[in-house]
Amino acid sequence: MFDKILIANRGEIALRVIRACREMGIKSVAVHSTADADAMHVRMADESVCIGPNPSSESYLNKAAIISACEITGAQAVHPGYGFLSENAAFAQALEDHGITFIGPKAEHIRIMGDKITAKVTAKDLGIPVVPGSDGGVADFETAIGVAAGIGFPVIIKATAGGGGRGMKVAHSAEELEIAFRTARSESKAAFGNDEVYIEKYLQKPRHIEIQVFGDGKGGAVHLGERDCSLQRRHQKVFEEAPGPAITPDLRAKIGKVCADAVAAINYIGAGTIEFLYEDGEFFFIEMNTRLQVEHPVTETIFGVDLVREQIRVAAGMDMSFGQSDLVINGHSIEVRINAEKLPNFSPCPGKVRMFHAPGGYGVRMDSALYSGYSIPPYYDSLIGKLIVHGRDRPEALARLKRALGELIIDGIETTVPLFDDLLAEPDIQTGDYNIHWLEKWLAAKYSS
Ligand code: ADP
Repeated sequence: MFDKILIANRGEIALRVIRACREMGIKSVAVHSTADADAMHVRMADESVCIGPNPSSESYLNKAAIISACEITGAQAVHPGYGFLSENAAFAQALEDHGITFIGPKAEHIRIMGDKITAKVTAKDLGIPVVPGSDGGVADFETAIGVAAGIGFPVIIKATAGGGGRGMKVAHSAEELEIAFRTARSESKAAFGNDEVYIEKYLQKPRHIEIQVFGDGKGGAVHLGERDCSLQRRHQKVFEEAPGPAITPDLRAKIGKVCADAVAAINYIGAGTIEFLYEDGEFFFIEMNTRLQVEHPVTETIFGVDLVREQIRVAAGMDMSFGQSDLVINGHSIEVRINAEKLPNFSPCPGKVRMFHAPGGYGVRMDSALYSGYSIPPYYDSLIGKLIVHGRDRPEALARLKRALGELIIDGIETTVPLFDDLLAEPDIQTGDYNIHWLEKWLAAKYSS
């Protein structure tokens, strides 16, 4: 086992990894930008290294600085968290070249899944059902029209190099397709430096269902059921739950097995998430994330496993501590993402937190790096905390979430907490009757006046 792990991240996820390290008797090294000198992850880690100025391009994305920090501190492994370098194959490779373990999958797997077209082809080859669409990149409008005619409108044009919900355009007709195709390409070029796009059937009322998988790197793998992350704003998740209200044990077992078998077949190591759109009893692969997800705690909660501990174990060459038959669902879990944003426009609202009080009590987990007096810097993502609850069943989890939100105090800045108070009053949320378009429609109706 490693003696020391460096965490190439900040905020709540850095704390999450530091906590796992401490429980395992492993020393932790925090890295930080100048702006984050007073951040909680720096305070909580055993050691810390400043790796650069405020912009993440010069600090949290600075591979050379992170590798130097490993060398200076003697860290033998790096946990990348999510975002930043977590799905950067070149970083995983560079660490390996320096004899440092990347706590995540092999560079080759990151590379395959990082390119959405290659990912889709690979998924198909591994027996995973995919969304109908173009076989690969679509180079010109004539081809695009041909593909659309084959699958029928509406279609969605997606950037091969896309991510974070960006680089997608929907077209309902040939006229719309012409404009959408052109703008998708130029936007993709500007955002990702690559103008390759592909086309998929646009599903009208799907749920976003993702399957958590975990591989031992030696041909063994399990699935840890699904998370329903359909409540999205601008393709970004805001509320996640497990198990999914629409998924039966039979469906779960079937799609879970397909996913576990697929990752076992490629000797995948560590945590991964296979994302699907789910409509009328059918699953359609959209992408695979080769890292820990923001919403991983709902899965940990219902299965009683520590996914970060498990990632560290397999990265160190140990066996997984559970097999498929050990994984039994207990109750229901919900996570809400709390952002430093001002409603109704969700405009970023960094600044000084005068007072922070985390909710607690039975079945409540708050993953946050906030503290009273902390100044949230304006340079990074606006996620400031995740509130996760556990109940014996969905109604109990919902009631507990309402209670916990009522206890949460974040004074001094605006947050998205009021959004969840309002959402919990909605009958569709109470019954679990929603799809990926529900939240956008609800927001438009609620905040347009
Ligand atoms: P990203 O990597 O940018 O997150 P994804 O491919 O994972 O992109 O898609 C993000 C979200 O966009 C999905 O959760 C869903 O809401 C929407 N989406 C993607 N593909 C389709 C599709 N074919 N039909 C309808 N909605 C889609």
